[in-house]
Amino acid sequence: MAKYCNGSSDQSESFDRIPPIQFTKLFINGKFVDSISGKTFEAVDPRTGEVITRIAEGDAEDIDLAVEAARHAFDHGPWPRLSGFERGRIMMKFADLIEENIEEIAALDTINVGKLYAHGKVLDVPGAARTLRYFAGAADKIHGTVLKLSKGLQGYTLREPIGVVGHIIPWNFPTVMFFMKVAPALASGCTMVVKPAEQSPLSALYYAHLAKLAGIPDGVINVVNGFGETAGAAISAHMDIDKVSFTGSTEVGRKIMAAAAASNLKPVSLELGGKSPLLIFDDADINEAVNIAFGGMFFNKGEICVASSRVYVQEGIYEKFVNKLVEKAKSSVVGDPFDPQVHQGPQVDKKQFEKILSYVEHGKREGATLLTGGKRVGQKGYYIEPTIFADVKDDMIIAKEEIFGPVMSLMKFKTMEEAIKRANNTTYGLAAGIITKDLNVANTVSRSIRAGIIWINCYIAFDVDCPYGGYKMSGFGRDYGLEALNQYHQIKSVVTPIHDSPWH
Ligand code: NAD
Repeated sequence: MAKYCNGSSDQSESFDRIPPIQFTKLFINGKFVDSISGKTFEAVDPRTGEVITRIAEGDAEDIDLAVEAARHAFDHGPWPRLSGFERGRIMMKFADLIEENIEEIAALDTINVGKLYAHGKVLDVPGAARTLRYFAGAADKIHGTVLKLSKGLQGYTLREPIGVVGHIIPWNFPTVMFFMKVAPALASGCTMVVKPAEQSPLSALYYAHLAKLAGIPDGVINVVNGFGETAGAAISAHMDIDKVSFTGSTEVGRKIMAAAAASNLKPVSLELGGKSPLLIFDDADINEAVNIAFGGMFFNKGEICVASSRVYVQEGIYEKFVNKLVEKAKSSVVGDPFDPQVHQGPQVDKKQFEKILSYVEHGKREGATLLTGGKRVGQKGYYIEPTIFADVKDDMIIAKEEIFGPVMSLMKFKTMEEAIKRANNTTYGLAAGIITKDLNVANTVSRSIRAGIIWINCYIAFDVDCPYGGYKMSGFGRDYGLEALNQYHQIKSVVTPIHDSPWH
């Protein structure tokens, strides 16, 4: 069994860094306001299952107000009309303010979703500032092209901001997701309404506050907390939102696309679920492969869309690899995410916790071999042991469906061709990994797998400069990289006759 720091011993006090929760309302037109209905919902600490605060619950009428503010800011406000340089300057200031408050924001994400505090502090929150700076630097380099036309015509293209954007985001990386969407939209001159997941509003509200301090004009960023079927659905069906950028489940992605089609035909981009394969070849360094596979699956307690949840291992190293991997899983420390000794915190909420345990039961019932884990850890909070199944068949539910928790399926393969075929045997296409020393194998496999990002001899290696998005039912559109800017622009062609040119 994985080791457990139960958080109820003397240790807990020294690791509890509960930040003040300053912002619990909606942020509309530069002000924190109650929802029109006055309703609120609970924010729960997954370490204990206890309510930590109540959050204003936005609904369709609140979305209307937020869209009105964003529309006004787009049609009449300065943001889309500023030079790219000036927008970039303000975004840089926003990034500075984030860096001045890293610990407080990281702690908010920890108490809200159970993320390791150390990860928030060194990865997510500094990464948010980096994402802002990257797109701030791009803001004054957004150009159209000059067109050489026939028949005495000349032309050029303009890249214009697309307008009011609705961002609907999930809970697993509240900070990363917020900036993955907001930063390129800001750089492009858009205004926006952000709906954080109902599980994770705390850091988004803090970011709204910092945006105002940085000088982002009122109405440019609005944050409306609320549930998917109400506030989220109101965004996707809204007639005055020009584009929706969504990250979340494939099931909800379908609903968003349908609502967009049935309303004003707004374009959508969808970053959806995954069931990503990691292929480990006989020539791999076993210790390195174990570390990569373990991190690929259990990082962020398996609540990561690119998790290497299907691990295919070539038969020559299979036994050795599995033994070492199981050993590593057993020595992983599950417990309070503020504790620097802990490797894995609690799952986000009771619903997710129960869903993951029910997949474990499916795996056992379908005949997979449970090598380690599979049980709750401790008596309170939503902790689950790192769980590894062997003898998994490709058609078992645990090999096909996204579990979004710390549950890995191990499979054995003989040849590269077989591994490619089985890796592609999924409705998803978000990410994949390959571990081999053979460059030819790495090249062939990376070009044969239908997924948006392929990691060779590494996994979950993200960079803001690297475009990211799905193939197949993992969605379409790209976040990150300069490609992300394309989501937030319209291209306009301007054509005019040219008279008396000395060159014709
Ligand atoms: P979810 O789809 O249930 O919710 C995501 C967001 O959509 C939330 O803000 C939610 O309130 C909202 N929503 C729910 N129903 C809605 C509706 N009918 N209309 C409009 N909005 C609605 O997903 P989740 O449980 O929050 O997150 C887990 C899922 O997200 C997993 O499938 C995971 O793979 C996916 N995900 C994908 C990526 C990626 O980059 N591809 C990243 C993180 C998470």
